[in-house]
Amino acid sequence: MSVGRRSIPFNRPYVTGREYDYLREAVATSHLAGNGRFTARCQAWLEERLGCRRALLTHSCTGALEMAAILTGVQAGDEVILPSFTFVSTANAFVLRGATPVFVDIRPDTLNLDERLVEAAITARTRAIVPVHYAGIGCDSVALGAIAAPRQLVVIEDAAQGILATRNGRPLGTAGQLAALSFHETKNVMAGEGGALLINDPAFVDRAETVWEKGTDRSRFFRGHVDKYTWQDLGSSFQLSEIAAAFLWAQLGEADAITAARLAIWNTYHDAFAPLEQRGFVRRPVVPAGCEHNAHLYYLLLPDPSCRCAVLKRLNEEGVNAIFHYVPLHTSPAGRRFGRAVGSMTETLAASERLIRLPLWVGMPAEDVHYVIDAVATALEHV
Ligand SMILES: *Cc1c(COP(=O)(O)O)cnc(C)c1O
Repeated sequence: MSVGRRSIPFNRPYVTGREYDYLREAVATSHLAGNGRFTARCQAWLEERLGCRRALLTHSCTGALEMAAILTGVQAGDEVILPSFTFVSTANAFVLRGATPVFVDIRPDTLNLDERLVEAAITARTRAIVPVHYAGIGCDSVALGAIAAPRQLVVIEDAAQGILATRNGRPLGTAGQLAALSFHETKNVMAGEGGALLINDPAFVDRAETVWEKGTDRSRFFRGHVDKYTWQDLGSSFQLSEIAAAFLWAQLGEADAITAARLAIWNTYHDAFAPLEQRGFVRRPVVPAGCEHNAHLYYLLLPDPSCRCAVLKRLNEEGVNAIFHYVPLHTSPAGRRFGRAVGSMTETLAASERLIRLPLWVGMPAEDVHYVIDAVATALEHV
């Protein structure tokens, strides 16, 4: 392969084109702060499509997780069980409330929190379990619910990567009492920055609105239930600006088409890498029975860390911007300071050291997809 003029980005944010119309509409209404017309539209869409009790748009998934931590009432000394193979916000949201993240290993197949290891990590201080749906492939929420329910633990799904994916017919983000979505530029459906808190347990709905309204009863005031609004509870500035909500509304309108376009590329990769997997060069993503994923990302696991390093180097030289993923939180400086790991973290370390993610974005030309496939095959033959 010639050293390419080609440069294939890892991600290129997809814009539907209708964003500009809705932005103009938002500006014309003169309501540009949060909780306006576009926020209401996006929230209603999420409530209908996903079937959650209430959806609240937030400035980020990080913000939605912080709201969930407030709503759960975790405090200093409390413990929250979560994977170490995740983004920092999954843990940080709870550390901000003084809680201790307790890291548990992931399953070798899905790279999701290993539900078989969760019980051993539960103590008298455990308050919540926070699974992540890695790559938009659903974790076993049924098993986690069965562990959590008898102990009154709250399940909070970090569904940042999970929009429109399902497990056993159920949309990700609707199995736990609370869930968080991300609309960050790197996610399937995006608004630059953005997120949503999904509330499935009705007991959290009223308080969630207060926390979302900076700790005031402003929502009740607007509905005419109180004659002035005041500071009622903990809260912060969690809402999404109407500018971003207008942008998001255009994206949600094409969410199914976006998912389908991503799945087509994902499936092309998956079929092309089957022979490499048969020869033992790579391990492809595993999608368990009953899971419909959303092609959030395509990853490969390479045989060992030095091979991963060499393949990434070679792909980058060929203009393919493949990248690694999480540094395990339990090995990070803040993770060591604020949390602890329970049991062996073998699979977490293995995934972290051996995984690469390939370029995948809506509008990616078929020839680029095939260029990436050839570049991966060639790189593997040379390491
Ligand atoms: C992207 C992501 C987040 C953070 O999302 P933001 O919207 O950027 O705050 C949290 N958790 C996971 C698993 C993510 O992939």
